[in-house]
Amino acid sequence: MPEAMVAASASDSTDRSAVQQVDVAVVGAGFAGLYILHRLRKAGFSAVGLDEANDVGGTWYWNRYPGARCDIQTVDYSYTFDPDLENAWTWSEKYATQPEILRYLGFIADRYDLHRDIRFGTKVTSATWDEAAQRWLLTTSNGATISCRDYIMATGCLSAPKPPEIDGVKDFGGEILFTGRWPHHDVDLRGKRVGVIGTGSSGIQAIPKIAEQAAHLTVFQRTPNFAMPAHNGPRTTDRVAQFEADRAAFREQARWSLAGVPIAQNTFYSWALSDAERRERFEKAWGEGDLVFILSQLWADQGNDVDGNTLVADLLREKVREIVKDPETAAALSPFDHPFGAKRPCLETNYYTTYNRDNVTLVNLRDEPIKAITSTGITTDRRTFDLDVIVFATGFDAMTGAIRAVHPITGRDGKSLSDVWKNGPQTYLGLTVAGFPNLFLITGPGSPSVLSNMAVSIEQHADWVVDR
Ligand code: NAP
Repeated sequence: MPEAMVAASASDSTDRSAVQQVDVAVVGAGFAGLYILHRLRKAGFSAVGLDEANDVGGTWYWNRYPGARCDIQTVDYSYTFDPDLENAWTWSEKYATQPEILRYLGFIADRYDLHRDIRFGTKVTSATWDEAAQRWLLTTSNGATISCRDYIMATGCLSAPKPPEIDGVKDFGGEILFTGRWPHHDVDLRGKRVGVIGTGSSGIQAIPKIAEQAAHLTVFQRTPNFAMPAHNGPRTTDRVAQFEADRAAFREQARWSLAGVPIAQNTFYSWALSDAERRERFEKAWGEGDLVFILSQLWADQGNDVDGNTLVADLLREKVREIVKDPETAAALSPFDHPFGAKRPCLETNYYTTYNRDNVTLVNLRDEPIKAITSTGITTDRRTFDLDVIVFATGFDAMTGAIRAVHPITGRDGKSLSDVWKNGPQTYLGLTVAGFPNLFLITGPGSPSVLSNMAVSIEQHADWVVDR
């Protein structure tokens, strides 16, 4: 049962030096934080949301690099908790762009009146469990200290950008940009010599857009990833038709499915299909541009048998050779070190064709590693590249970064979460950690998290935390 509400919301707090007493503090105002605040309020709890950003959005607030989109079809990447919401919002595209997803989250915050409970521009600087009071005490960079019974980290799995690991970054005289912290103003790359480091999902989305603007783009690639065309476009797809046919059943199937996306069990095995049949299935999947489909629906042994997997990987590598004109570049872009699906594959729009442009160069760091960043650009052990802008698409301090690197979390007996996790994170189902009472992680390490459709996994975790 909710406690007596001493201070109902952040905006009610007039005396900023007083301790703000709430039932629950929630860090993060993205997909997870917004839903939890809504659920908590409906359940009668007092809660405060805290976010370093100046508005809602979470990952979609920060990742505003050119080309940013989700890679789960938007009909699946949506809140499901309110059937009326599904009537009130219609996505315009199959894979929504970052601005549209950010608008959606703003719409959610307005619709459920969530802004008033969130302190924006606020970092938690420490969180300490008080055993005697059975409460968490949070200090923050902005406003009153908070005392709460439950502390929820809705901080996302990929929120803390990985700091550059390359010598000389601070010497660079040009502009440095991070895909995960892209500026909120327009970035004009016209006429500039741009270098992009990193070819994961973010790099693969940003590179074609940057190439359209830059005078010259040099891509520094350490490891090629599998990527397939997104075929972006209007939202009218088979999946939307499936959803519209029976919305409640579609959402229920998503909740019970392996990855949070309702999809049929595949019963075709590669060895039972002829070469022509396999190729036909592959070409159909390539033409549809559905990541979940191509990951699971070609043949049943693609994800658990090396021979079944190699058949898919070979077809994907063949596509790269077909599209990319320069054979050396095509070879460098062909994944070699992991089975298809062992790392999350990427969805691309004009990614491979970008390497056919005259103003784009691929540097294969496996052949010529980066030695240093200098005042004028990037030096490999073979060449020097003069650059005006360097874009780091080098990823995140994944899974634990936003939980433990941001602020010290001290649990029972004065133990810090960083110490407890020094040999790797240990959790109960990715939700709780022994010795840290009433601390809850949403899609934390050990849960399906980024291996699933986050929208569905987030609702499942949030419901468990609020309903327990
Ligand atoms: P990422 O997948 O971790 O990719 C980082 C890239 O930077 C890799 O190519 C990595 O190479 C390279 N890199 C890192 N450090 C480097 C260094 N010191 N020198 C040279 N290269 C370096 O990060 P991301 O692209 O930001 O994507 C992270 C995750 O976010 C994705 O898996 C996905 O779950 C999510 N995401 C989703 C979407 C979407 O929904 N469409 C979009 C963007 C991101 P190595 O592989 O060799 O380490």
